[in-house]
Amino acid sequence: MEDDFIEFAKVGRKFNISGLPEVYKIIEVDTDKVVVTIEGIGSDFNVEIGDAEDSFKVGMWRSIVTLVAAHRDGMDCCKCNNFFQFAAPNQDDGTMICWSCRSGF
Ligand SMILES: [Zn+2]
Repeated sequence: MEDDFIEFAKVGRKFNISGLPEVYKIIEVDTDKVVVTIEGIGSDFNVEIGDAEDSFKVGMWRSIVTLVAAHRDGMDCCKCNNFFQFAAPNQDDGTMICWSCRSGF
């Protein structure tokens, strides 16, 4: 197993399977299988460890933590294109112009 998969395959890890809306959670990691449950539905199933690693490696299984971290909370200024964390729309069309651009600096 590769390190990034070992890091991923931990009990309690929540992930999405690409194309599916459900949230999956790892409830058991064994030497030959991963036991996964669908959150809110509670039907457990086993995935062979090799299949699980393949699914992870090709990006089909995506950790939800990673998705949240990749989400940028903020906006790009539509004039200078700089990214401003926590910025909110301040124009009528839903875009954001930063303070510098609005001030004409
Ligand atoms: Zn700007």
